[in-house]
Amino acid sequence: MAQVAISKVAKAFGTVKVLHEVSVDIADGQFVVLVGPSGCGKSTLLRMVAGLETVSGGTIAIGDRVVNHLPPAKRDIAMVFQNYALYPHKTVEQNMAFALKLRKTDPALVAERVKRAADILDLNPYLKRYPRQLSGGQRQRVAMGRAIVRNPQVFLFDEPLSNLDAKLRVQMRTEIKELHQRLKTTTIYVTHDQIEAMTMADKIVVMRDGRIEQIGAPLELFDRPANLFVAGFIGSPS
Ligand code: ADP
Ligand code: MG
Repeated sequence: MAQVAISKVAKAFGTVKVLHEVSVDIADGQFVVLVGPSGCGKSTLLRMVAGLETVSGGTIAIGDRVVNHLPPAKRDIAMVFQNYALYPHKTVEQNMAFALKLRKTDPALVAERVKRAADILDLNPYLKRYPRQLSGGQRQRVAMGRAIVRNPQVFLFDEPLSNLDAKLRVQMRTEIKELHQRLKTTTIYVTHDQIEAMTMADKIVVMRDGRIEQIGAPLELFDRPANLFVAGFIGSPS
């Protein structure tokens, strides 16, 4: 059974349709990348999985539950945003602990989860610092730490590397993949960068204008693109 099942999901803002009945099945532990040009609907689809946008048609299931009408907090997902969205007046440690404290988690468990995330992400030297005292890469790690401490069934990433310089982007790609190999958490990762998609994905979903052009493993898309759009998009340099 799919861990995340997106079935004929549509989205309209007013009278403007931005997604047309898209379907994607994501298996437990899979790292799936949604890729496509700016404005094709990637963030909207991810935000619907997260519960940050309503669904205009179709169903989204996580595990064995249809989640269409569940608020984000009840979906067992954690999302990492492009702009990190860290709390500026909280330390690294407090940023990571906050979501758990909101949920009235036992303090001993909060401390244990924060320690584990800090170990995994090499954040121990920075626990007492504030976001403004960190580099871009460190901030991105804190944002990932905040997702990890919640121990969710599904990670959602929306262009998490687009604010980083090219060198750091390559390094963080590797770190995110290592994190995935270690935790094996089902992941949906949005990017407009075909290199990111090709190097990180178990499965790529190529989108254009609110529709899915092709779904397949990176090499499959490379060897057997369904059409010229996919060929051009996957084959072109970043
Ligand atoms: P992507 O993430 O692939 O760049 P988006 O999902 O952000 O694309 O946007 C898809 C389309 O939906 C775009 O045309 C965008 O302008 C439109 N859109 C996104 N959010 C809203 C909104 N809240 N209201 C109206 N239109 C929106
Ligand atoms: Mg987007």
